[in-house]
Amino acid sequence: INDLMDEVAVITGAASGIGRASAISLAALGVKVSLLDLEINQLMEVQKEISHAGGEAIIFETNVSDPISLKNAIEQTAEKWKKIDIALVNAGINGRVAPIETLTPLDWDTTIETNLRSTFLTVRYCIPYMKENGGSIIITSSINGNRIYKNFGMSAYSTSKAGQVAFGKMAALELAQYKIRVNMICPGAISTNIDASTISDQEKLNEITIPVEYPKGNQPLAQKSGEPEQVADLVCFLSSKASSHITGTEIYIDGAESLL
Ligand code: NAD
Repeated sequence: INDLMDEVAVITGAASGIGRASAISLAALGVKVSLLDLEINQLMEVQKEISHAGGEAIIFETNVSDPISLKNAIEQTAEKWKKIDIALVNAGINGRVAPIETLTPLDWDTTIETNLRSTFLTVRYCIPYMKENGGSIIITSSINGNRIYKNFGMSAYSTSKAGQVAFGKMAALELAQYKIRVNMICPGAISTNIDASTISDQEKLNEITIPVEYPKGNQPLAQKSGEPEQVADLVCFLSSKASSHITGTEIYIDGAESLL
């Protein structure tokens, strides 16, 4: 991939995991990256790593659940670099993992707001800066909610991840007139810090009668979880002209986990 030099990317959830790895990989290809996350100290570490390698990164302490904070970061990125070519819509949490009977309206709203409403908002705020030259939007969804329904207690998470695919497809149709492509990536288990965002209700979960045994983390291709750098390679492909005719689709990156 050699066509990304001096492109501009906005990446949410860039302090850790898939967002961090994608920021590093895109920057190595010459992309100027704007990194948004709640965790400013971790963001500073990622920025340091990128600039040591000769890349360019700016950082914003941003809560994607807060429209004003998100809009400001995107506007300031466009002000600095005059355009946005790539958006990796990636920030997300597992949220409260509990049976539906014990999930509260607030649990539901927190997960949907953080994962799904923020997807709409990030896309919405990037459109004005992508309209003129076209661009690539990549939404980090999941196999959960699209191919896998076996992670009990994750009804809100799975709904948010399925919603991202539906939203992304509508956006792909609507934005095709501006040559803005929109694709969804659906990872299986990837070694990141996402489990730290889980609020687990294990006692209650143990009460659910589980009809199937789901072999967690057992991906046929590698017998282990995937690595964030492998997802970053897919993000680079979808950012580049190598994928110029691909839009409105979801790509599974799970070592065949979802086929078990
Ligand atoms: P991670 O926890 O390592 O990274 C997520 C980042 O998002 C963190 O840096 C966190 O601070 C940030 N974030 C969370 N809430 C935020 C908010 N309100 N505002 C701004 N930033 C916020 O996890 P990850 O696995 O890299 O997750 C990235 C995406 O990948 C998520 O959307 C997740 O649902 C998706 N995903 C992960 C896996 C997996 O197994 N790790 C599988 C499928 C999909």
